[in-house]
Amino acid sequence: MTAVKSYAAQNETSSLAPFSINRRKVGPHDVQIDILYCGVCHSDIHQSRDEWGGSIFPMVPGHEIVGRILDVGDKVTRFKVGELAGIGCFVDSCRTCENCKAGLEQYCEVSLSATYNAYEQDGKTPTYGGYSTLIVVDEKYTLKVSEKLPLAGVAPLLCAGITTYSPLRYANVGKGHRVAVLGLGGLGHMAVKFAASFGAEVTVLSTSKSKEEDARKLGAHHFVLTSDKSQMEKVRNHFHFILNTVSANHSYSPFMNLLKTDGTMIIVGAPPDPTTVPAFDLIAKRKKILGSMIGGIAETQEMLDYCADHAIVSDVEVIDMPYINKAYDRMMKNDVKYRFVIDMASLK
Ligand SMILES: [Zn+2]
Ligand SMILES: [Zn+2]
Repeated sequence: MTAVKSYAAQNETSSLAPFSINRRKVGPHDVQIDILYCGVCHSDIHQSRDEWGGSIFPMVPGHEIVGRILDVGDKVTRFKVGELAGIGCFVDSCRTCENCKAGLEQYCEVSLSATYNAYEQDGKTPTYGGYSTLIVVDEKYTLKVSEKLPLAGVAPLLCAGITTYSPLRYANVGKGHRVAVLGLGGLGHMAVKFAASFGAEVTVLSTSKSKEEDARKLGAHHFVLTSDKSQMEKVRNHFHFILNTVSANHSYSPFMNLLKTDGTMIIVGAPPDPTTVPAFDLIAKRKKILGSMIGGIAETQEMLDYCADHAIVSDVEVIDMPYINKAYDRMMKNDVKYRFVIDMASLK
């Protein structure tokens, strides 16, 4: 075991504070990674405050991890000491169910070992995330990271990136499609970059006029202020896809009207409460609602390689570890462009 510095929440009301955890010895199939950067995801806040229920404490959040390999087990074939590596939202899964076999480990039907707030496959060893200086993960669940991109901007690709890349690919979004991105935050800004890069005509739908300039800088072709009735009326029956990234409670209905016949609303945000969708929103023009959660290991690697080839990274504000509680407060006010990333040198 290796004692490792981290930041943890001790319960659902405590702030995050320094905490020591143990990482396992490097096994034959493991890589040991010196964590350089870890992105801060909205789900870190939800889970450390037990807003989804069932949280496991003490909790070390963080599932957007990039770093350099310090050690590898003697059976490891894909990684060498000194290379960059990434860890996303999960560190293991059952490996035998239909979804695991199909490369859809994120939808493991038996037991997904999330990177934190979960258990290893033994069902009892808690997993601890990337707000820490070191992590040990099986090479099967470790991603290769290019040296070509600024590393802090790569970290959020491991969650915000794959969460938006995967459904856009699944839906074959590309040239000839009009795509709306609802909400311009951590997920939304990545969705705009990917959809534009895939050749779609991209519109940002936002409640905030101040986002227009940024939306265009990120690659959006159009901007619609959702509180403006005439602007909304102009895009009625207009979009092939709406990628809904909003994680606050809201009604889907006004946006379903913006979809064309056969249009699809893709849900990637996770509002705390259920919403209702009138049947006529779907049946009147054969519309669909599609959900999607992160991506499998192979697809996450494909996304990282795509980003390296197309120079796509997340827009980030790099912070020191002790700033994390302030960062959470600012995220609750949407006061970040567009992802906080912790420089883990500040914890060493
Ligand atoms: Zn996340
Ligand atoms: Zn499985």
